[in-house]
Amino acid sequence: MQIKDPRVENFLGWIPERIIDVHNHLSKTQSAEYLNELTNQLPLERVVVFPLYSDDIIMQNNRIIDAVKKFKKISGFMILDMTSKEKAFTEMERCLSEGLTGVKINPPFQKVKGDVPQSVIKEAGRRDIPVTIHVDSTRTLGYIRHHGKIIIAHAGFDVPWKSLLASFEKDNNVCFDTSLVNFFRIRRMLDFIEPERFLFGSDSPFSHPTLELMKLYFVTDSREIINKIAYRNAKQFLGL
Ligand SMILES: [Zn+2]
Repeated sequence: MQIKDPRVENFLGWIPERIIDVHNHLSKTQSAEYLNELTNQLPLERVVVFPLYSDDIIMQNNRIIDAVKKFKKISGFMILDMTSKEKAFTEMERCLSEGLTGVKINPPFQKVKGDVPQSVIKEAGRRDIPVTIHVDSTRTLGYIRHHGKIIIAHAGFDVPWKSLLASFEKDNNVCFDTSLVNFFRIRRMLDFIEPERFLFGSDSPFSHPTLELMKLYFVTDSREIINKIAYRNAKQFLGL
């Protein structure tokens, strides 16, 4: 006897009406044109894009600046030199004046010197712009010290979630993007942290928004929570 799984039927009509994807990259394989087209295929009101890392930070940021100027549904974050506070602050100033609206820090993939990440996070907080950070250890968790708006990429999938809870359970300025992390971890974290602190992200092109949305479908049955994670939290947190 065949038993129909109603979750499969329901998923087809489930996709939220409004979505903001807070974690995407432009890369050799993913252009701004492609992402913009995706915003027409899926109900994506906004996609936030980051550069990938290379030694030519200015060139990478310029590509994001061009995308933001060309497509109104694309918001862009900058990368900065984490070995020199002076260079980081100068580039931050330039990128903000060109329309970028946040900072991406990725210590596992970037050279880092001294307390430059902490200084950048503090400066971003002073300017009230969000920082998305990839944390992979207690060292990188330590960069976050109650300054401004922080988004922990992949809900911190490289660190035990209990360490995350211990550090940030009460910090409402620290949010978690849902990209790449498995749905069960998000479900468990939701037992301890308010749904307002989760933001939908796909990490495209390393994953895909359709796949990442499907994951959310299995996180909770609550439409209210889904709408918050898919759209409303990001709209508020990023001031869109
Ligand atoms: Zn990423």
